[in-house]
Formats: sequence, structure tokens, C-alpha cells
Amino acid sequence: MSDVIAFLGLGVMGTPMAHNIARAGLTVEVYDVLAEARDRAEAEGLTVTGDVRGLLARADVVVTMLPNTGHVEEVVHGQGGTIANARPGTVHIDMSSISPVATKELGAASLAAGLGYVDAPVSGGVKGAREGALSVMAGGSDEHLDRVAPVLDAMAATVTRMGPIGAGQATKVCNQVAVAINIQAVCEAFALGRSLGVDLGKLREALLGGATASWVLDNLGPQMIAGDDSAGFRIALQVKDLRLGLEAAGANNVPLPAASGVLDLYLEAMAHGEDSHGNQALSRVYERLTNQEIAERQERVT
Ligand code: NAD
Repeated sequence: MSDVIAFLGLGVMGTPMAHNIARAGLTVEVYDVLAEARDRAEAEGLTVTGDVRGLLARADVVVTMLPNTGHVEEVVHGQGGTIANARPGTVHIDMSSISPVATKELGAASLAAGLGYVDAPVSGGVKGAREGALSVMAGGSDEHLDRVAPVLDAMAATVTRMGPIGAGQATKVCNQVAVAINIQAVCEAFALGRSLGVDLGKLREALLGGATASWVLDNLGPQMIAGDDSAGFRIALQVKDLRLGLEAAGANNVPLPAASGVLDLYLEAMAHGEDSHGNQALSRVYERLTNQEIAERQERVT
């Protein structure tokens, strides 16, 4: 593939994803609104530009990995965006986690402007992004998905075609509801375990061998046990995703009692100023509920 790939959004996910596109031998140029993010990417050896309009004008494929719906709307509809600057035939892959409803509009507007559009949100976290092992949930036409397959394959272990534009984001909100509830489940098992004096490291090990083994227990469990709040996936983004899931559920009269409950617990964490902590820091909420700190308790047990 000799296409020029424009990659917008050099955060904790976007930067390693762009590196994997480059490692696959594809031509990728990157941009972020933040100068410090651009400088960091340049120091890491990526090809960086500060001129987003020029980049979009020469791109064949545009990838966005941005925080939320408003950011992607700005990239599609803004003066410095794809509709105003990209050439007809350019395919926009949005890999951010944003509203499925807004995605249908963004896709329709892009198609009307002669551009292609694919929604391709991901699961697998920063680890999956670094290892090129993300799970991509893709919406869009087979024509556009075939066209960008080498780009997605460079970042992903699996690319599941879910249906038309919007189907990828619809899948992602389901994923986010399930992940958040899974985090809550692990927090509750740990809260109970530590109240019973169980060694949490051994608890995790035992549970990983049984019916409740999960990605969350495997990857986030050690951080919960160590009291490591670093992100990963920021609590503010987890709240955004739960709201997107609950909005979609509300529009379809689907009750999601567990997702509603875990959103409230995440809001408690936000009220304690933990917006930029990783989503595993839900364990802090349980520490407050039980008045026990996992890390301290663990020191006493071991
Ligand atoms: P992040 O905040 O670390 O990075 C986002 C970057 O986008 C920032 O550097 C920001 O400056 C940049 N940005 C904002 N507007 C821009 C614009 N118009 N043009 C160019 N750059 C712009 O966020 P992240 O954790 O990398 O997450 C990105 C998306 O991926 C979010 O939608 C998130 O929900 C989703 N996601 C994150 C994870 C994770 O583990 N962090 C996992 C799966 C999905």
C-alpha cells in the first residue's frame, strides 16, 4: 500500500497505534492539537506535522483516535477538517469511542462529500495498542473496509465487521458496559477477600484459573492490588463511555441496572478528583466504602 496515512490524536492509544502502522511499512504522518504531544511523537521517531490541513489534503487514509464525539465532529465538519480539506476518495477511519448516533451522521456527511467512512473503535487497552493486538469493531461498507484493511491489520489482532456505519460504535458501547461491570465485579471480590484476610495476589491467581477469569482480572487486578492508579484508560473516558451506553439504552427502553450503578460509583471517584486515574481506580471507591486500603492491607497479610 503506497497510501499516505494521516493519523490524528497522539494520546496514550494513538501514539503506539501510529508506531505500529509505521512498523508495518506503511507511510504515516501524525498530528495532534497539542504541541507537546507532537514534540513527543517526533522524539520517538514518528513523522510529525503541525499543518493539519496540508496533511489532510495529501492523505489517502485518515485515522482519528480522539477523546470524544465533539472532537471527531470538529475533525469532520471543522474548517481544518476532512470535508473541507481531504480529496474525494480519501477514507476516514474513526477509531475513537464516540456516539453511535453521531457516527451515522458523520458517515453520511463524509459519504455525501465523496469521502469514505469507517467507524472502528477498539478494545485491548494501551497494552493491546502497543502490541498491535487490538480488537477492532468495524462499521462501514466492505469496499471501504477492504481498502483500509492493511492499516487496521497493522494495529489489530482481530477486525470484526459488524455491519454498516455506526455498527462498530454500537458494538463498542456494549463492550464498555461489560468492561465496567467486570471491573466492578473484581473490585467487589477484592473488597470481600481483603475483609476475610485473603491474600489478594493469591485470590487473583486462583480466580484466573476458574470460571471468572477475565482480561480485567488479569491486566488490571495487579494494579488494583498494588494501589497503582496510573492510566491506561482514564476514569473520565470510562464515564463518557458508560454515558454513551446508557444513552443508547435509554433510547431503546433497555434497562441497564448494573451499568447505571457502576456509573454512579465512577462519578463518586470523579467527585474525589480521580478523573485522570485509570479505570481500575474504581478500587479506591471500594476502599472508601470499606475504609480499607488494599495496598496497606496487603502489606500486613504478606
Ligand atoms: P488521550 O486523551 O490520551 O489522547 C487523545 C489525544 O487526542 C490527545 O493527545 C489530544 O490532544 C488529541 N486531540 C484532541 N482533539 C484533536 C484534534 N482535533 N486533532 C488532533 N488531535 C486531537 O486519549 P486515549 O486514551 O488515547 O483515548 C482515545 C480514544 O480511544 C477515546 O475515545 C477512548 O475512549 C478510546 N479508547 C481508549 C483506551 C485506553 O485504554 N486508553 C482503550 C480503548 C479505547
